[in-house]
Amino acid sequence: MRRCSALLLAFSLLVTAAPAGAFCLWNCSYTKTKYPIVLAHGMSGFDSLFGVIDYWYGIEGALEDGGANVFVTEVSQFNTTQQRGEQLLAQVQQILAITGKSKVNLIGHSHGGLDVRYVAAVRPDLVASVTSIGSPHKGAALADFLRANVSNGSFTESVLAFFANSLGTVLGLLTGSTNPQDAVAALESLTSAGLASFNATYPQGVPTSACGAGASSVGGVRYYSWSGTGLLTNLFDVSDAPLALTALVYPESNDGLVGRCSSHLGQVIRDNYFMNHLDEVNQVVGLVSIFESNPTTIFRAHANRLKNAGL
Ligand code: CA
Repeated sequence: MRRCSALLLAFSLLVTAAPAGAFCLWNCSYTKTKYPIVLAHGMSGFDSLFGVIDYWYGIEGALEDGGANVFVTEVSQFNTTQQRGEQLLAQVQQILAITGKSKVNLIGHSHGGLDVRYVAAVRPDLVASVTSIGSPHKGAALADFLRANVSNGSFTESVLAFFANSLGTVLGLLTGSTNPQDAVAALESLTSAGLASFNATYPQGVPTSACGAGASSVGGVRYYSWSGTGLLTNLFDVSDAPLALTALVYPESNDGLVGRCSSHLGQVIRDNYFMNHLDEVNQVVGLVSIFESNPTTIFRAHANRLKNAGL
């Protein structure tokens, strides 16, 4: 019995000591997709703030544990989708050069889901699949609300731009980035008018009806999406209350920043997880609902879906 406990202790130490993705005993190829997985962050995203908090909290490791080759990209915190998309495209080309693969699987959260659409639209030959999580494909009501209450060139607009630009610059400095910031342009990119214009140029995978699904495959690229409609999901997460407040400007169920129907792209995997906008990427630091599938489990299941589709 004692020897058994000692063995168990030695084993658990070994597992704890092993770096993510380096040690696996069960289901080791569950997430082993044919093409690398690229995680593209949202507005005011950061790949590793202070080197401690990962934007994709615990997700990269969870995917790597099952054999996936995962890359986390970084673009301007606040900028237009086209600007961010061009920055992302350059990083995708670097990833292809590093791995020697011909395509990538793009997964974007929030504004990142629009960036990945841009890359797939301009270079479909480099993209196996596009997945968006909580992305405002028909616009975000909060952006409409802010835009309507901030008149062009007014004092309020410059104050708003100052705060948002400062936040973006600070986040950029902390993560060693020198990307240009443009908060008002980012806001324009996320209004329903901004998205209508973007969708007219880049319609791939976008539903033509108000709340239907989009085409699941366009030009050889597979399209998927999921999102949540939870707000107050974890008592200990201080980010829940602000999201519950912003949710009030939305006419439909939402995750605090993006409406359920607006999140639809391609094949809709699910649009009502009990998750708010930050829960979708397992934030803050894993504080999510215990009554819903864990975000890392959902990401792993999706990688397995991509793998089974030969992607
Ligand atoms: Ca949370």
